[in-house]
Amino acid sequence: MMKRINKQCLNCGEEFLPKTVASVYCSHICSKKAYKQKMIRLKNEAEINALADKIPQTRAFISVPEAGMLFGIAKRTLYRLVGQGKIPSVNLGTRLVRIERNVMEGMYGSARSLPQPQSAPKKKLYNLEKEDCYSIGEIAERFQISEGSVYNHIRKYSIPTRQIGKHVYAPKMEIDNLYNGNEFI
Ligand SMILES: [Zn+2]
Repeated sequence: MMKRINKQCLNCGEEFLPKTVASVYCSHICSKKAYKQKMIRLKNEAEINALADKIPQTRAFISVPEAGMLFGIAKRTLYRLVGQGKIPSVNLGTRLVRIERNVMEGMYGSARSLPQPQSAPKKKLYNLEKEDCYSIGEIAERFQISEGSVYNHIRKYSIPTRQIGKHVYAPKMEIDNLYNGNEFI
């Protein structure tokens, strides 16, 4: 006869004599508790995945909370790595730290459960009609950053602009891509 040896319960950590080789919990209560916790974990994961699915794949710049969701890393860990410069980031202003998705993918592999694009993205066609653009002043006001910073970012990320009269305009789509994504902070 095979001698059964004590195991440690995966829920409470107490030693117990397993009823079968497959037993991992000391009691029915522990087994139930563990099941409940597993369900909570799965539910949280499903919620995170639902949020992650809302982040457009085409957005090159993602916020720290978004990066946390997409790559399954704790927000606090990411902020620490960003702070230490281990993950390069751009700071678009107070609470506007952005990480490049490409950089994250280079470090952590593909984002979780998101379908990858089948082919290279088509070259973007910019609509520089006035109604599809913000003026620099509008951008500064809308996103609470200085006009100087807006110009810097536009230059840095090669966002196309158009001068109409006295004002410089940039496509809404690109600007929204750059500065949005704060909703999870
Ligand atoms: Zn137990």
